[in-house]
Amino acid sequence: MTPSFTNELSFAKQMDKEDPLAKFKQSFYFPQHNGEDVIYFCGNSLGLQPKAVRDAIEVELNSWKELAIGGYMKGTNPWLYYQQYLNKPLSQIMGCLEEEVTVMNALTVNLHLFLLSFYKPQGKRNKIIMEAGAFPSDQYAIETIVKHHGLSPDQTIIEIAPQQGDKILHTKDIISTIKKTGDELSLVLLGGINYYTGQLFDIKNITTATHEVGAIAGFDLAHVAGNVPMQLHEWKVDFAVWCSYKYLNGGPGAVGGAFVHQIHANNIDTPRLGGWWGNEESTRFKMEKGFVPKPTAAGWNLSTAQVFNTVCLKASLEMFDTASIQAIRTKSILLTNYLEFLLNDITHLNFEIITPTNSEERGAQLCLYFNERGKEVHQKMHEAGIVVDYREPGVIRVAPAPLYCSFEDVHRFYMIMKNLKA
Ligand SMILES: *Cc1c(COP(=O)(O)O)cnc(C)c1O
Repeated sequence: MTPSFTNELSFAKQMDKEDPLAKFKQSFYFPQHNGEDVIYFCGNSLGLQPKAVRDAIEVELNSWKELAIGGYMKGTNPWLYYQQYLNKPLSQIMGCLEEEVTVMNALTVNLHLFLLSFYKPQGKRNKIIMEAGAFPSDQYAIETIVKHHGLSPDQTIIEIAPQQGDKILHTKDIISTIKKTGDELSLVLLGGINYYTGQLFDIKNITTATHEVGAIAGFDLAHVAGNVPMQLHEWKVDFAVWCSYKYLNGGPGAVGGAFVHQIHANNIDTPRLGGWWGNEESTRFKMEKGFVPKPTAAGWNLSTAQVFNTVCLKASLEMFDTASIQAIRTKSILLTNYLEFLLNDITHLNFEIITPTNSEERGAQLCLYFNERGKEVHQKMHEAGIVVDYREPGVIRVAPAPLYCSFEDVHRFYMIMKNLKA
């Protein structure tokens, strides 16, 4: 049940007292501002460092030091199977089978690998639907894959934009574009949560509509992973990619995550680029001709496991496993709704919350749109010890990640904003 919020500090303190996840805050390092922890509402860009990370790195450094090549088989965590250690916790977070998930490379690289597998333009069926104003890397990836096939981006990419006067997309508009494109549609590629507005798309129904016209549904879940629980298997999403340094707290440039539905993963004839790590371990070293992919998402792995790029994520995921993504989401909804409640009390700063008000249509992020002076307000927040980011045009993104942000943090943020000079 949603409690009725009040703007008293005592209310925030009471909420923290009753919060079953409150203890996780102590498991992270916070940057300091005037000798105090900053208010860190920027976990949507880079998650904080879990304290457990240092020891986890130390374990692998020791394996390397003491065993060298022996670390692959005899290390504390044998490196030969290193990626597999993350399958279970990631399958919980993404709602999929363990064999449908893997870690490798980084997000944009994985997006390209899957575009090569799943975007197969044939005759008039060559269109890609994406959101207008998608994240730059996604735009570049789609533009260049289209050119790679000798097609013209202008004639191939269909961008869905909000209706006049609106800032967000409506599911019915997305679905009607899918239907209208019909047998010309090859692929739908959407960000699960739009990075600029914070809108969470209806992945389930968009996927169903895409399949009804015989096309492939892929998602960039950069802002979803570790934020909102998914059911990728049940929803029959074809593929998804995400990065691990945002809500998953895997550290800067951490190894990327990838999901391929069982239907495609089990089929070793699904086209792909091959490399030795995607080949069956039993035959990897036989030097025989012919790439035989593993019948799992790991069949897209190319290179040897990037242990030091994966170890921080491994340590972080242990915390997600203990906390459970469902409990994280429950707290997140409360925390974000509380933030929204307090922001609605601030009238002297001229901004509008453009993120949908319905919890089902957003994660931990609220986007404040300033018609003017957004940058100046952002600078003032920064000087007051608040870490949030600014995205052109005019948006301050405020993201209280539930593992390490408290109700009191939200209240402190509110008080600082309330006292900012207009
Ligand atoms: C953060 C983010 C990326 C980042 O891609 P990298 O390849 O990890 O640099 C891509 N797409 C979206 C939507 C993002 O939010």
